[in-house]
Amino acid sequence: MFEKITAAPADPILGLTDEFKNDARPGKINLGVGIYKDESGNTPVLATVKKAEAILLEKETTKSYLSIPGTAEYGLAVQQLLFGADAAIISDKRAQTAQAPGGTGALRVAAEFIKRQLGNVKVWISNPTWANHMGVFGAAGLETAQYGYYNAETKDMDFGTMLADLAGAQAGDIVLLHGCCHNPTGIDPDAAQWEQLAQLCVEKQLLPMFDFAYQGFAKGVEEDAQGLRIFAAQCKELLVASSFSKNFGLYNERVGAFTLVAENADLAVTAFSQVKSIARVIYSNPPAHGAAIVTEILNDDALRAEWVQEVADMRDRIQEMRTLFVQTLRDLGIDADFSFIERQNGMFSFSGLNKAQVNRLKEEFAIYIVGSGRISVAGMTKNNMLPLCKGIAAVLS
Ligand code: PLP
Repeated sequence: MFEKITAAPADPILGLTDEFKNDARPGKINLGVGIYKDESGNTPVLATVKKAEAILLEKETTKSYLSIPGTAEYGLAVQQLLFGADAAIISDKRAQTAQAPGGTGALRVAAEFIKRQLGNVKVWISNPTWANHMGVFGAAGLETAQYGYYNAETKDMDFGTMLADLAGAQAGDIVLLHGCCHNPTGIDPDAAQWEQLAQLCVEKQLLPMFDFAYQGFAKGVEEDAQGLRIFAAQCKELLVASSFSKNFGLYNERVGAFTLVAENADLAVTAFSQVKSIARVIYSNPPAHGAAIVTEILNDDALRAEWVQEVADMRDRIQEMRTLFVQTLRDLGIDADFSFIERQNGMFSFSGLNKAQVNRLKEEFAIYIVGSGRISVAGMTKNNMLPLCKGIAAVLS
């Protein structure tokens, strides 16, 4: 029966990682996948994660199943991180949270919830976006549409086109927004733009959905929730998919969350009952360990403060690499202006390198970049900066 099966195309980003692993050339550089690397090129376990794990080792008494949405402590910790510790949304019980296997799992649960409960609505997604968005929403049978986001000439946000495109959305449609550190452009709306977008959603009766995978990587853990909190103040209903892969370095623990905000507590409970039945048929109930670590850290004042500092250290290192990258290219006498890289947030930027240049970088210099020209700044180190910039200078000349 399997003879008639044809091979699926490799995932554009994870496939590149496989190619990188198989490349025997010394000094190879991977700016493909979005994984934080330290100055030595490693992805370390955070010190707070190690401490939380030591506590859990002592404390844990059972490996019995969690409930379908995971623990209540985790749900509350997630909501406080999203909306602020004293948010009325939380005390009014308008939010319900389900632990999910990573941000991807949260997005997939959200997609199923939208498809089953909200009917034939369209999901509006930025162009460009994270490579998996179309796939995840498409897999749930949802129709997707794109709104403009990026101006390739100015290397900045195209807010006018975004508003104009979203004007074409119908009442009930979903608007997917990146909470911060937009992947792949690194460009986020400012406060006034968030306000305008929230107003648009209210006026047109669109349902906002936040994909929040990089909280803490732009300006700070609290600061990065600004856009979401502006929406939460204006909108009666919204959805959030959180990922703790990056800001807790818990990539392989698959820890994320799907949060639903309704107009009141009763509506939230009823809607959430549908979320639970969706999770039940996909993964039944979530894995415990990653969420237990996150809960332990967020609920302990000292560990939380240390974690906020660890996130700041990751953020500052990436920012330092952005500055060094721009400076090194300038020192090499590159004509093109790369200063926009310094103004962007988070792990990613659009380099503006085209497919042919990206290919040459891989073939001639063992430098791996996604075909779109997206670079993961977190893969840069002081040691690889000069060979990296020399390679880029060569393909630009
Ligand atoms: N959303 C965005 C924008 C991402 O960049 C990523 C991961 O790269 C995810 C979601 C998925 O995160 P996770 O690894 O937790 O599934």
